[in-house]
Amino acid sequence: MNYSIKQTVRSSARLVAVLACLVAAAGCHTIPRDTVTQVSTIDALLAGAYDGVVPCAKLATLGDFGIGTFAGLDGEMVFLNREVYQVRADGHVYRPVGTVTTPFASIVEFKGDFTAKVDSGTDYPAFQRLVDASSPRTNLLCAVKFEGKFRHIQTRSVPAQTKPYPPLVEVTQHQPVFKYAELEGTLVGFRLPSFVKGVNVPGYHLHFLSKDRQFGGHVLSFEVENGVVTLDDCHQYVMILPQGESGFGHINFNQDRSHELEKAEK
Ligand SMILES: [Zn+2]
Repeated sequence: MNYSIKQTVRSSARLVAVLACLVAAAGCHTIPRDTVTQVSTIDALLAGAYDGVVPCAKLATLGDFGIGTFAGLDGEMVFLNREVYQVRADGHVYRPVGTVTTPFASIVEFKGDFTAKVDSGTDYPAFQRLVDASSPRTNLLCAVKFEGKFRHIQTRSVPAQTKPYPPLVEVTQHQPVFKYAELEGTLVGFRLPSFVKGVNVPGYHLHFLSKDRQFGGHVLSFEVENGVVTLDDCHQYVMILPQGESGFGHINFNQDRSHELEKAEK
């Protein structure tokens, strides 16, 4: 074997070793801590970009906790313990197959940093003050999980849309609203800093799933009977943007849609 062949053999062996390491690393893939991964942007959703970007089956590789919606705006997503729940406009909770896609979602591997007891009578504004007091670093990304009992809670969902998709603010004018009383469940969501404006929802964005997995939706208001809130401060932010032929590339992001967001989400 001459020198150059030996070199080639050595290089090939090294390449195989490197590839083996990469494969091994992928096999024991660990999700980075304190990292919020989001699909697309809220302004794209407001503009009517409802085509799916990421299959639901992939969400479990990004974390175990989060919220979002589905292709065609077919309901509100609650992602809890790596399970995807779809709260459709008929008020029922479905379990979509892994090939169903999401056009907008925010996901984290939830590891609680703080917990606080939530007293009887706490409503949504008081809940926000409690979370802000428990996790005062409001310029970080805070994942918010509450488990407990509600005196009442009001949620909404959104009806599935067909093309040409109308803007979100038009869809939510016809949103079904659901009111529940005396039930247990989980709030899943985020408190995000003001600088995410245009990218995600600044402030609080919570979805609800009942303990029996029968009810849920995007949270409009509530009053707690009792429970505990757990918070996960996150300092890393990853975005997955739509590629290819999606309409994402043609949206005018110069437009300030914060007024539309206020109407659509609150
Ligand atoms: Zn929502």
